[in-house]
Amino acid sequence: MSKIPQKAKYVIIGAGIHGLSTAWNLGEKLKAKGQTIKENDIVVLDKTGIAAGASGIACGVVRNNYFQPAMRELMAHSVEMWEHDADEFNYHSVGFMQINTESMRKDMNSVYEQQQKIGYNSEFIEGEEKCFNYMKNMFSDWQAKGITSILHEKQGGYSPNKIAINACGKKALNQGANIISGVEVTGFKKGSNSKAVTGVETNLGTVECEQVIVAVGPWVYKFWEMLELPKKISIKYNGETKDNQNMWKYWFLQEGVMNVGDGFLKTDDGKMPPLIHVDSDEPLYSDRDKSLITDKMWGIYYKPDVCEKLGIQGGAAPFKVNDKVEDVKVDPYGLASKDYQTTDDFAHMWSSALAHCQKRFEGKSNQYKQGPSGGLGCFTPDSFPVFDKFCENVYIIADSNHGYKMMGVGKLVADEILGNESELLKPFRFNRYEKGDLHPTSNSPFPWS
Ligand SMILES: Cc1cc2nc3c(=O)[nH]c(=O)nc-3n(C[C@H](O)[C@H](O)[C@H](O)COP(=O)(O)OP(=O)(O)OC[C@H]3O[C@@H](n4cnc5c(N)ncnc54)[C@H](O)[C@@H]3O)c2cc1C
Repeated sequence: MSKIPQKAKYVIIGAGIHGLSTAWNLGEKLKAKGQTIKENDIVVLDKTGIAAGASGIACGVVRNNYFQPAMRELMAHSVEMWEHDADEFNYHSVGFMQINTESMRKDMNSVYEQQQKIGYNSEFIEGEEKCFNYMKNMFSDWQAKGITSILHEKQGGYSPNKIAINACGKKALNQGANIISGVEVTGFKKGSNSKAVTGVETNLGTVECEQVIVAVGPWVYKFWEMLELPKKISIKYNGETKDNQNMWKYWFLQEGVMNVGDGFLKTDDGKMPPLIHVDSDEPLYSDRDKSLITDKMWGIYYKPDVCEKLGIQGGAAPFKVNDKVEDVKVDPYGLASKDYQTTDDFAHMWSSALAHCQKRFEGKSNQYKQGPSGGLGCFTPDSFPVFDKFCENVYIIADSNHGYKMMGVGKLVADEILGNESELLKPFRFNRYEKGDLHPTSNSPFPWS
């Protein structure tokens, strides 16, 4: 049975990427200020353990490609953190390719131009023939037609999720954090005369504390309720305010694995390939029976399965789960959940789309690994993160499911907790909804691009 302290200075809830990265960086920054970290100064509580949530099943993609300037700058900061400790995180800095249909060319060109302004290493290829040849030079079996632009980010890549998150946990421990597994947070204790939280209530008792950091991934909806924050909010769109809008929504991320063996996807020169993301409006035909799957816009991404080394891992656009967030069963999470599963339709579409792109996948759809995969994401109204302080001393990291790649957010949150506002986090405050300072939306079929 886990033991919890009666008192802590900082209580961080959630041992995923954000909780652990915050603990590690907070410890580092306090030490840099000359402070000695005592045993229960920084306490991380998790109802299960390290990497038990979304961080432990994420596909592991690290990329910069965002149409929204604030997201792009934040990601560039995070990519630097991945690169800095690449060995510890087992990070493959192999790049990322956003391969586009014509309707996305303009948006992607603008992403490219702005990446150049912030010094992010990328290349933009335009024109159908040039794009086809560019891909053929990398993979001689490339065959997707109708691609008119490619944003090739030379930075970014992927890493095996559990290895990277455990490495992050080790860094937190090394900086003096006390990580306690098997403790479920059930509520908050508040002072009689202020909104501030004075303690975190758990199934094992209360931990009195000065500052709380909530980093609970898809469970954020429950914590929002515990803190009595508004379930419905007003949002200003293009100068007009809409009241009574849902604060949260759930999407299910469809991902899967094709059991084709380790090393199946390499570039022609034998290297680990970049992460490949294709958005196309070419008709998509079945790899099983050649029937038409869709003639509408579709999108997929894929990379070597660096976690289990079974072959290829990737996904397609997510589906919306339910309008009634309170009915969404986040427990048991992700892979174990029987309520939301990737379907045969997904397996069919994804493996056919792989075959559409590269000949080596033709006839391989029967090697799709049957079984649970994918997981839930809890999204904000504009599908971008909220990083903000609530109830005076509760910092919420609600990444709107963008977050495995966001290794650097914990560092910036640690700064803010210690009183230094981060310019990179400012565009993600909760009051942007009522002020109408929303992030621009792109033409991508994915809610997170
Ligand atoms: C299938 C899938 C694939 C993804 N792929 C990518 C990708 O390739 N790249 C990318 O950038 N992002 C990806 N994401 C998004 C990314 O995984 C998440 O945004 C990120 O991991 C969230 O991290 P977190 O630390 O906020 O939460 P989590 O990793 O979910 O951690 C939250 C922790 O809180 C704990 N917790 C919850 N409730 C309580 C409680 N009451 N008391 C105590 N502890 C509690 C949980 O046990 C859990 O360990 C993917 C998401 C999914 C679902």
